[in-house]
Amino acid sequence: MSSPLGPSDRVVDYTTRFATFLADEVAPIEEALAARSVGTPWQPVLDEAGRMHPEVWEARREVQRRSAAAGLFNPHISSDVGGGGFSRVEMQHVEEFVYSSSGLGLGLAALAWTENASPAIERCSPEARERFLQPLLDGTITGAFCNTEPSVGTDVLAMDTHARRDGSDWLVSGTKAWITNSHFADVLQVTAVTDPGAGTRSLSMFLIDAGDKGFTRGRDIPTMLGDGLTGELHFDEVRVPAEHVVGEPGDGFGLAMSWINWRRMCRGGMCAGWGSWLRDRAVARAKKRHSGGKPIAELQAVQHLLADIDTDVYTARAMSLQAQSELDALGPFAQPLHPDAPRLISMIKVVNDESFFRVADNALQVHGGTGLLQGSPEEKLFRLARNLKIPAGTVEIQRNAIARGVLRPA
Ligand SMILES: Cc1cc2nc3c(=O)[nH]c(=O)nc-3n(C[C@H](O)[C@H](O)[C@H](O)COP(=O)(O)OP(=O)(O)OC[C@H]3O[C@@H](n4cnc5c(N)ncnc54)[C@H](O)[C@@H]3O)c2cc1C
Repeated sequence: MSSPLGPSDRVVDYTTRFATFLADEVAPIEEALAARSVGTPWQPVLDEAGRMHPEVWEARREVQRRSAAAGLFNPHISSDVGGGGFSRVEMQHVEEFVYSSSGLGLGLAALAWTENASPAIERCSPEARERFLQPLLDGTITGAFCNTEPSVGTDVLAMDTHARRDGSDWLVSGTKAWITNSHFADVLQVTAVTDPGAGTRSLSMFLIDAGDKGFTRGRDIPTMLGDGLTGELHFDEVRVPAEHVVGEPGDGFGLAMSWINWRRMCRGGMCAGWGSWLRDRAVARAKKRHSGGKPIAELQAVQHLLADIDTDVYTARAMSLQAQSELDALGPFAQPLHPDAPRLISMIKVVNDESFFRVADNALQVHGGTGLLQGSPEEKLFRLARNLKIPAGTVEIQRNAIARGVLRPA
């Protein structure tokens, strides 16, 4: 009997088509990129301003456009606005397949990520849908989610960026920092204070065209990821028409959480995919590398590393699938969100962030000095795993949400 948590027929269809797409469409672009000596999306050569090399960026963009044309780019978006309408359980299977089959390759760009369409902006006006959402779905433009500021991260409601009314328009001012895709984004999804003191109703979300007067890109913020994608953005009285407010004024906090929760839930498939990829690489290395005249795979010390990797991947994957299925029943992107949902979403994030960090650490250890080689997959994913515990809400904040859920009156 097939498991209700197993891959559905349309997931099987998706992954079959994705595998063909990787071989037929992505591999030639990847080969051409390798010949250019500009690095890869995960280890790009940076330009003089510290930003991802434009040729690497363009290779990713080409994959995104082709993936959209092949109907592979947006399975996570509702079918009524042109996406695949996949559930969270289905998306975990899709993400796991994409990450395990792509490794650190260009294929990862073929599935929408933080710079592409998110469930949070599906609630935009018909005009904004045509101007921003449809091109995001088509892969013809990219975006950035702009919530964090130089002095405000976790404490979202303390943000300085604000918007004031001017007739039916809004004027948005402030500085956002630590923003992924800040250098290239065509559309900015910006949260700003519109009703100071109104708590979770104090923010609104705006869609801002990067060509608009008053918007400027700031400095690059180099992180341990070394991908040249993170930076600052400045808004100086940028005029935004009422139809570019997502949802209603005052919905911004809920919509920002929806975007952040999307990224948190994606950890399940991402860490299962990369985790199994690292496990398979560690097993292969342990069978091939010799010490004392025999493969290190025969040493109990190394076997225990492999056992811990396997157990971490299995438990995080199983827990996440169960939580995604409960979230599917509650409505993972409902506004307002069901009060039982944040606990489950935060469990997915904290369990995956912490188990994947152990997986990456143990996998690197199996590879010995080779694992420390700059640019090796193990070294890269170790740095990435360390990074995961901070963006989209720190692991401490996830524990706060889980505790709130546990302590909530029945
Ligand atoms: C590579 C990268 C990409 C990013 N991309 C984006 C993006 O695209 N868009 C965006 O808006 N932001 C982005 N961010 C910002 C990211 O979301 C924040 O860094 C994160 O939310 C943490 O905020 P902070 O850095 O200000 O840490 P702080 O809020 O200063 O936290 C510092 C420490 O205090 C703890 N802490 C703070 N408040 C509490 C509390 N109430 N309870 C318990 N512990 C607490 C934290 O857990 C942490 O350990 C990105 C960050 C990085 C590193």
